Amino acid sequence: MENCLFCRIAAGEIPSRKVFEDDQIFAFEDIHPQAPVHILLIPKKHIPTLNDLTEEDRVLLGHLLLAASRIARERGLDSRGFRLNANCLESAGQSVFHVHFHLLGGRPFGWPPG
Ligand code: AMP
Ligand code: ZN
Repeated sequence: MENCLFCRIAAGEIPSRKVFEDDQIFAFEDIHPQAPVHILLIPKKHIPTLNDLTEEDRVLLGHLLLAASRIARERGLDSRGFRLNANCLESAGQSVFHVHFHLLGGRPFGWPPG
């Protein structure tokens, strides 16, 4: 999608610190990290919010979650613990309307979130 920040990052039109890429997904460092590890994982397909997922996205989202698990392991977070978070709509903290998961780790996290 032309004017979507994360579509443009996945297409390489806007620079990012890439962590992983394949034909379906893209992972990159968050520009304002909230933890020692803060990586964003996105589908290359433009999906605005979690409300917009369809049956067609079943395999894609599974693929994204497996990549998150693998990256967490590569960063040594599998034994330390980590958080995988997705915000849906502004009231939950979503500011970029292209589905993304935050992989956060390297410090303790409180619960419930604010
Ligand atoms: P959310 O608030 O859940 O929609 O998350 C959006 C995230 O994107 C925030 O954590 C931002 O810091 C991050 N972000 C915004 N612009 C960029 C960018 N150009 N490169 C990397 N991360 C970004
Ligand atoms: Zn997009």
